[in-house]
Amino acid sequence: MIFLRNRQNQINLHNLINYPMKYFHFVIPLFIFAFASCSSVKIVQKPITINEERKQLSLEYLETRYGLVQDEPTIDPKMIVVHWTVIPTLEKSFEAFNPAKLPNWRPEIANASALNVAAQFLVDQDGTVYSLLPETYMARHVIGLNHCAIGIENVGGTGDKKLTKAQLKSNIKLIHYLKKKYPEIEYVIGHLEYTNFERHELWLEKDAGYRTEKTDPGVDFIKTIRKKTAKYKWKPVPKKENQV
Ligand SMILES: [Zn+2]
Repeated sequence: MIFLRNRQNQINLHNLINYPMKYFHFVIPLFIFAFASCSSVKIVQKPITINEERKQLSLEYLETRYGLVQDEPTIDPKMIVVHWTVIPTLEKSFEAFNPAKLPNWRPEIANASALNVAAQFLVDQDGTVYSLLPETYMARHVIGLNHCAIGIENVGGTGDKKLTKAQLKSNIKLIHYLKKKYPEIEYVIGHLEYTNFERHELWLEKDAGYRTEKTDPGVDFIKTIRKKTAKYKWKPVPKKENQV
C-alpha cells in the first residue's frame, strides 16, 4: 500500500513537472522567435564566385602579403571594416566583386596580388544585406588586416548616392549579429582608419610602400555605428604616430 501510494505520488509529481515543461517548450521558442525577428538582421545569400582560382589566389595572398601559410583561406575575425563601394548600384557593385581575379581596371594594386577585391557583406541603399562570401572566408578589402577583418561594403557613398539611414541601421544590426557570433571581434573601424593599425600587432602587410588613400565610409557613418554599438566596448582605434 505504501509502495503504491509512493508510486502514485511519483507519477503525480512527474505530471506536475512535465505539464508546464511541455507548455514552456512550446511557448519559449515562440517568444525567442518573436524577439529575434524584430532585432535580428535578415541576410540574403548572393554569393560571388568561389572556385579553385579564388582559393589559390587567396592562399597566395595570405602567404605573400602576410607570411601566413594555410590549407584553407579562412580568417580569424578580430575586427569589422566598413566601406562604401562608390559604385551606385547593387548589381554593378556585385559585378565588380564577383570575379576571383582582379580585372585590369585597378592596375595600381594589381602588382600586390591578382586576387580581386571583395567583402563578406554588401549592403544595398535600401538596407538589404547580402552575403557574398562565407563570414570566415578571406576577402581582399583592407591592406594589412584581411587575415582578421570581416568587410561590410555599402552600395554608393558619394555624389547623389550618399549612404542612407537604412544602410546605417542594417550595418548596426549586422554588427550586433557578428559580435554575438564572434565575441573575439574587438574593433569596428572605417576603411579610412586602416593605416592607424600600421604599428599594431594585427598588421601583417610586409610592403611598407603598399598603401592606398581611403575616405570610406565617411567619418560620421563609422562614428555613429560605434556609438550605437558602444555596449560592446570596442577597443579604440590606435592613434597614428603624429597624432596626440
Ligand atoms: Zn573601402
